[in-house]
Amino acid sequence: MMAPEASELGIELRVLAESPEVCAAAVVPTSPVGDYTDLSTLREFARSVDVLTFDHEHVPTDHLRTLIRDAVAVHPGPEALLHAQDKIEMRRAVDRLGLPNPQWDAVRNPDELRTFGERTGWPVVLKTPRGGYDGKGVMLVDPEDVGSPEVADWFAKASDAGWTDGALLAEEKVEFSRELSALVARRPGGETCAWDVAESIQVDSVCDEVIVPAPEIDSQTADSAQQAALLLASELGVTGVMAAELFETPGRGPGFLVNELAMRPHNSGHWTQDGSVTSQFEQHLRAVLDLPLGSTDRLAQVTVMKNFLGGENQNLFSAYPAVMAEYPGAKIHTYGKSVRPGRKVGHINVTGPSDELTRLRQVAHGAATGIRDYRAQGQA
Ligand code: ADP
Repeated sequence: MMAPEASELGIELRVLAESPEVCAAAVVPTSPVGDYTDLSTLREFARSVDVLTFDHEHVPTDHLRTLIRDAVAVHPGPEALLHAQDKIEMRRAVDRLGLPNPQWDAVRNPDELRTFGERTGWPVVLKTPRGGYDGKGVMLVDPEDVGSPEVADWFAKASDAGWTDGALLAEEKVEFSRELSALVARRPGGETCAWDVAESIQVDSVCDEVIVPAPEIDSQTADSAQQAALLLASELGVTGVMAAELFETPGRGPGFLVNELAMRPHNSGHWTQDGSVTSQFEQHLRAVLDLPLGSTDRLAQVTVMKNFLGGENQNLFSAYPAVMAEYPGAKIHTYGKSVRPGRKVGHINVTGPSDELTRLRQVAHGAATGIRDYRAQGQA
């Protein structure tokens, strides 16, 4: 999704694509295809660019360290990226910086998990420190589940993979009022910027809708959340865009706890394409190329972003005439991905005055549902 902004700025984007079918390869036709876990492939790719950046967090840290020794400009660098790759490292850093964490521990076996649950209360949220996304890698564990084969499998996986101490991350189950996202960007020299704090609504652990600014958020909570995200970005040496996903906890700590970090343009920042002077995609490019950052001012009082997942409609374009006619205020963004049930294939942005939030949400929902479920006449 960085391609339109790169093209606007005359920046040549090259993408190391996982396969010829991925949408990045369609958008950037010069993309070489290769395996990002293979060092020699990465080295060869790195020779063809001035700066290397990411749209996911899974490139092995050791490979990135090798590239840095080869004098490749890697942004964000591996020492920062580690905190988006490994949730135990992230929890340690949040503690070190004095920011609010849920109660947590790195547990190496079912006995340590039980001890944690007895100390903090059940159920416990058990997480694989690496490789999780959209709730895969998150399990709620009750006392009777501690000895289950599934929990044993997760411990075996953590130990086989040699993740941090072979451990899993155990967290208290936080009672939160909603989830928030504090989106920031940082240049290598230290310049930073922040967008307004967003509310992010999850369905089945997948981001479904984002509203910016988070409606009726306490102003001190919003300020502290922005400051926390900026501190994390500066102290971890992040370059590019970073999203701090937060739990809103009125009356506890500064009104929020840190959930996790993403160091790349993030789903909770897609609203910036139509709701901010500078989109997160343009800002990421500016930041990793060490260019001055753009304004994060909002273009409207409120922006609603609604994702749509693959559903009934296999040909999204077929829905355009009806959806565009009914919802002229909806900005449609699709990713060129093949449509599979449950796969994120696009999103809608709608902007307007804050006293019309209910209507703006209806427009975003209507347009997203229309594209997802549209059936052309005569279709079964
Ligand atoms: P992923 O890396 O898959 O996005 P997260 O750590 O963000 O995993 O967890 C997915 C979802 O699970 C969160 O959005 C939140 O709704 C819920 N969750 C995660 N950790 C906790 C926790 N400690 N307490 C309560 N809910 C949690």
